Amino acid sequence: MRSHLLSDATTKEYHRSVTQAVERVAATLAATDRPFSGIAPEALAPDVDAIDLERPLGDTAAALAELEKVYLRDAVYFHHPRYLAHLNCPVAIPAVAAEAVIAAVNSSLDTWDQSAGATLIERRLIDWTAARIGLGPAADGVFTSGGTQSNLQALLLAREEAAARTAGTGAVPAARMRILTSEYGHFSVRKSAMLLGLPADAVVTVPADQERRMQPAALEHELERCVREGTVPVAVVATAGTTDFGSIDPLPQIAALCARHRTWLHVDAAYGCGLLVSPTRRHLLAGIEQADSVTVDYHKSFFQPVSSSAVLVRDRTALRHATYHSDYLNPRRAAAENIPNQVDKSLQTTRRFDALKLWTTLRVMGADGVGALFDEVVDLADRAWHLLAADPRFEVVTRPALSTLTFRWVPRRTPEDPAAPAISPAAIDSANLHARKALFASGEAVVAGTTVAGRHHLKLTLLNPRTTTDDIAAVLDLIAEHAARHLDLGEPLVHAC
Ligand SMILES: *Cc1c(COP(=O)(O)O)cnc(C)c1O
Repeated sequence: MRSHLLSDATTKEYHRSVTQAVERVAATLAATDRPFSGIAPEALAPDVDAIDLERPLGDTAAALAELEKVYLRDAVYFHHPRYLAHLNCPVAIPAVAAEAVIAAVNSSLDTWDQSAGATLIERRLIDWTAARIGLGPAADGVFTSGGTQSNLQALLLAREEAAARTAGTGAVPAARMRILTSEYGHFSVRKSAMLLGLPADAVVTVPADQERRMQPAALEHELERCVREGTVPVAVVATAGTTDFGSIDPLPQIAALCARHRTWLHVDAAYGCGLLVSPTRRHLLAGIEQADSVTVDYHKSFFQPVSSSAVLVRDRTALRHATYHSDYLNPRRAAAENIPNQVDKSLQTTRRFDALKLWTTLRVMGADGVGALFDEVVDLADRAWHLLAADPRFEVVTRPALSTLTFRWVPRRTPEDPAAPAISPAAIDSANLHARKALFASGEAVVAGTTVAGRHHLKLTLLNPRTTTDDIAAVLDLIAEHAARHLDLGEPLVHAC
């Protein structure tokens, strides 16, 4: 069995196994003509269940051949131009190469004696990101597993800072703490509030405008209400790229209100962080430099494999709220010796060297290269908006600031039959829902769904520069066909335009 452990004695086996895995994935990618096979869970489950985990195959090639049947053949492929659903990007090859290094060397980014140079590389990337944001000389941060964890940590720091600030006036009970975010803020804000022991009504929803951006006047109103009611606004969470619309909250106005109310400003740029490297659209993030903390998800708009995220703070001393000492790992005396360690800043202990993926990507492609790719998908989204806006089969909700389009199919009356009976809103909902499911089951394309004002909508999240407007037009045709067929409207109606 030792021959299966990576060491100086097994480099041949290592080379062979990893090469076999790479070759298998490359062959699968080369042969994949759609983003998904369309398989249903009940069709796949028996094959997974039939594998006897007590009977090993003893050989990587055999295990990979088996994997073809239970995973690779039916995986959902984000690299495919007709994968248009969630915030998943095609991944940069330099980052995939880095994954091989990460797994083989297996550094753990908690202490220097488990990571050595890796800690320095992660720190450089944190400094680089903070500089791109403009957080100033006292900034710091740490890589995390994703935006959810980044948001949780930022809100933990904000809560502790609020508690520290008001300590002189008596401890603030959790019951009085509030977090303000727009109605389009990410659900991890609510989850974080719960994990942080805040009450169910702690997250105050601030109304948004037609473009799905937080209304500063409404935020001001809510902050004043906190003052009146004696509650403590622990943080305002502004979103730079909402998940469903890609809308960017008005950061300068929100920052000014936070400054006036001495409230922590967290900017959730999990999606919009790609603008930090955009050669043409960096200005859309103006105001982000005034944040107290920022979430960035490199695995969304920097073309990085999952996981790759970071939380940044303007004032590194805030990270002390995540610092706990343990004799076996990071005793107080080590801090005095000035040995760099990341565990003092992190909610995790053992932690992957995810930073290496971004490092390798920047060293190969450069920041402008990454940003240019993000620009391409933002441009594509605008072209797709024109398509949708001009297409009577669809209603599109807003013109995108980033690369997300939320829309719905609507039935049209044909010129031949202008008096066709009106179709109920519930039936239209059901047609949209059905269209998404039918498309997924066909495997020809994958789109997402969401609800807008109580009505079912469809969503395209464009992160693949290889997707063309022809792809989008073809997918819209498929959606319209599935939806019309569901309502039994027949195909001629759909093709009439
Ligand atoms: C995706 C997303 C998150 C959560 O990030 P994960 O990496 O999925 O945990 C948080 N905020 C916004 C705005 C997001 O789009």
